[in-house]
Amino acid sequence: MIASFEDARFTTGLKPHAQTLPQHISPSAAKAYLSCSLKFYFERVACIRKKTPPALHLGKAVHAALQAFHLARWRGGDDSPETIAAAYDVAFISLEREEGPVNFDDETEREKCRLDGLRVVAAYLDSPEAMKEKPRAVEVLLKEEIPGLSVPLTGAMDLVEGNFTPVDFKSAAAKPDPANAAFDHEIQLVSYQLLLEVATGESPPSLDLVFLVKTKTPLVIRVSSPPADAHRKRRVVSLLETAVEGIANNRHHPQPGMHCSWCQYKNECIAWLPGSYQERRAA
Ligand code: SF4
Repeated sequence: MIASFEDARFTTGLKPHAQTLPQHISPSAAKAYLSCSLKFYFERVACIRKKTPPALHLGKAVHAALQAFHLARWRGGDDSPETIAAAYDVAFISLEREEGPVNFDDETEREKCRLDGLRVVAAYLDSPEAMKEKPRAVEVLLKEEIPGLSVPLTGAMDLVEGNFTPVDFKSAAAKPDPANAAFDHEIQLVSYQLLLEVATGESPPSLDLVFLVKTKTPLVIRVSSPPADAHRKRRVVSLLETAVEGIANNRHHPQPGMHCSWCQYKNECIAWLPGSYQERRAA
């Protein structure tokens, strides 16, 4: 499968930008750029700091707890619920200190957020989705040259199962619709497949998301999608390259939509005019 993909080398039709390319592209950076290139500029180029939204803070702390669990499974260490809950609490506090402040209204909201995360972690450990076997890899960072992409692709996978299935964990407020969930995360899932194929020579049998849903009784829902065929790979590489080209050319403009409802950069966005953010290119 890998051989046939490499044989069918393609170009995206976009021009290379040897002098101004970013050094690499990740699926999260590409998705952020393609969602709103101006918000991408505020967040990742100008690095304008904002208070962390509570939901994002909770998601990061839950992620740290799951990482502790999977690493314990991998190393044969202590993966008891008490140890993983302690890892969650440590992450909840240290992330506040290192990446905060978090936009909590008050201490009551902070404590509710902390307890919501603890319940979600406990629900995962109690669920059939909790890793029983030794994983193939945990928090694996890959960087590979991909045909059709003018810079290396990078990606950090939460978990790679023994059969090479990459698994990404998502905290969510509501139960996901499986078809939409896989479609929403297509760039990330197919990027992981591309990276694994180049790095290991193996094709994953499935591309999986595990949603940890913060409902009153937390839910743990796996959404599996089939591995990408040549069409899906080409489509995703083209999207990645579109982001590379836009970033390389310093193209940043408002892309209004539903996502503006939770954007923290509305004031900066309102001040935008064409040419406002060309200084990096001119420098
Ligand atoms: S308010 Fe909307 S258009 Fe403006 S930067 Fe934010 S997401 Fe982009």
